[in-house]
Amino acid sequence: MNKSPRFVSVPGPVIVGAGPSGLAVAACLRQKRVVSMVLERSSCIASLWQLKTYDRLRLHLPKQFCELPLMGFPGEFPTYPTKQQFIHYLESYAQKFEIGPRFNETVTHAEYDKVTGFWRVKTVGKKLEETVYKCRWLVVATGENAEAVVPEIDGMGEFGGDIKHTSYYKSGEEFKGKKVLVVGCGNSGMEVCLDLCDHNAKPSLVVRHTLHVLPREMLGKSTFELSIWLLKWLPLRLVDRFLLIVSRLILGDTARLGLDRPDKGPLELKNLSGKTPVLDVGTLAKIKSGDIKICPGIKKLKRHTVEFIEGKTENFDAIILATGYKSNVPSWLKERDMFSEIDGFPRRPFPNGWKGECGLYAVGFTKRGILGASMDAKRIAEDIERSCTV
Ligand SMILES: Cc1cc2nc3c(=O)[nH]c(=O)nc-3n(C[C@H](O)[C@H](O)[C@H](O)COP(=O)(O)OP(=O)(O)OC[C@H]3O[C@@H](n4cnc5c(N)ncnc54)[C@H](O)[C@@H]3O)c2cc1C
Repeated sequence: MNKSPRFVSVPGPVIVGAGPSGLAVAACLRQKRVVSMVLERSSCIASLWQLKTYDRLRLHLPKQFCELPLMGFPGEFPTYPTKQQFIHYLESYAQKFEIGPRFNETVTHAEYDKVTGFWRVKTVGKKLEETVYKCRWLVVATGENAEAVVPEIDGMGEFGGDIKHTSYYKSGEEFKGKKVLVVGCGNSGMEVCLDLCDHNAKPSLVVRHTLHVLPREMLGKSTFELSIWLLKWLPLRLVDRFLLIVSRLILGDTARLGLDRPDKGPLELKNLSGKTPVLDVGTLAKIKSGDIKICPGIKKLKRHTVEFIEGKTENFDAIILATGYKSNVPSWLKERDMFSEIDGFPRRPFPNGWKGECGLYAVGFTKRGILGASMDAKRIAEDIERSCTV
């Protein structure tokens, strides 16, 4: 039976997504006495962190770069908080700013009605019940990592072993003694390989492109912090050159391990393409020792066998796809000026992508992690406060 939707008029902004970005906007608004409504498709806040990340995960960046506005981390947290600590922090944050999202509501359609001057945001609940929210401001906080990217590999159906995306990978425990092929060499792929080694599995890593691997710390400081500090005094290319020289001294020549570096430096590449350098947490030592093997791209899969592009074949028990995530905005937001329908990111580059027309905002699409989201959140709350008073 198809019931007609419920209609709800929201006096304040509607925020789609209860991850760190959505929580940050709701908190900044609350501080300005603007009450918002947060809609979340899953059953908890920060679902990416709670449901889709591996057990050993810690923040990749030092804690001072991952705080949300208005509330710091507890002093006793380590430099790189564990995922459990980070989740605990986010829960306290939601509690402090009295953010109570409407859970299990997936936004499937949002459109601006020019006649009434309001956004109509449609959600579908667990029992397929529909609700239409009417609001003046719409904040998109669904994240850069809303949907897993799963590549089509020839013969996937024939392989027979476990094939899973990293969003379903929890620990190497279940792969003890098994040969596992990890596809994708970003921070997640590298760390999953290390975790597999630590659980006595035998990982191999598919590397198809050039990449920058940097030590997580240099000269007693985090590489991230040091880079930001150096950029205050030196041009980007010089900082890149410095990072590469120190990396070579600490890590050696990564090309000799099968990890060729791109022509452009790590910071230049991040600025141009958003590609984040890998911060090494011990994986490189395992590649050097031969515990992790480097493989070329996959041509096709057969029963428990992988054929690589240069013709070699090898047997594997399982494949982990560390192939990343994508935005899902084009699937539900019926608006094409602010967001690109190709990648689901704001068209205007950082720091100008946070504001669109007719009360539409984006938070957390800067490719600059939680630091970027916090900057967006403050700007959005200030702008909404201003437009409340006109
Ligand atoms: C493994 C890993 C490690 C990372 N480590 C760091 C780090 O150390 N430091 C850092 O700064 N960043 C890190 N990041 C980046 C990280 O994703 C972000 O910083 C942070 O989670 C982004 O928050 P967000 O709220 O923008 O997106 P998310 O955390 O993805 O939250 C978006 C929310 O929107 C919900 N949603 C999506 N679509 C809909 C819909 N249609 N309707 C309703 N709800 C919807 C989702 O369920 C989700 O809860 C890491 C990412 C990953 C994957």
